[in-house]
Amino acid sequence: MDYYSSQITKLIEELSKLPGVGAKSAQRLAFHIVNMPKEQAKRLADTIMDAKNNVRYCKECFTLTDSECCPICRSQGRDHKTIMVVENTRDLAAYEKTGKFEGVYHVLHGAISPMQGIGPNDIKLKELMQRLQAEVKEVIIATNSSLEGETTAMYISKLIKPTGIKVSRIASGVPVGGDLEYIDEVTLLRALEGRVEL
Ligand code: ZN
Repeated sequence: MDYYSSQITKLIEELSKLPGVGAKSAQRLAFHIVNMPKEQAKRLADTIMDAKNNVRYCKECFTLTDSECCPICRSQGRDHKTIMVVENTRDLAAYEKTGKFEGVYHVLHGAISPMQGIGPNDIKLKELMQRLQAEVKEVIIATNSSLEGETTAMYISKLIKPTGIKVSRIASGVPVGGDLEYIDEVTLLRALEGRVEL
């Protein structure tokens, strides 16, 4: 039986498709939205569409940005010869928050996972190798310490080794299976400083 108006049910359905939003939260959010002042609801809807229409991958590092090239890749002050490889944009944001990394990034958008059928061609690995045609001093692999993250790190290091470019892996101060975005800045910095050459 439909307890609510069909419009509310539709809204609850759409909201519950979002990650981490269960049926209860979806209901709560839906009622919250319906009770919002009209302008606020419109701003939310418009912001979602603007983001959807304008956000794309940076052509250099593949992070999400709203211009052709992200501010980090555009910056003259960054060391473009040191590339930190991360799994996703949230991990990039975590390192960026420490304010101590002066290089640039490469966002893979995933990690190799034979279990889930994700292979090297499903992440932005080819694009990383293309970037290495330019002058690069070091590639720091900062994938998560999960099985997938480690598999990806091994794979990348094997690919890069023959090029003679230095490859390093962030230290294992990062808890196993830990998602980089949940780790505090001190731990992240320690992991970066304690990186080991592969
Ligand atoms: Zn970029």
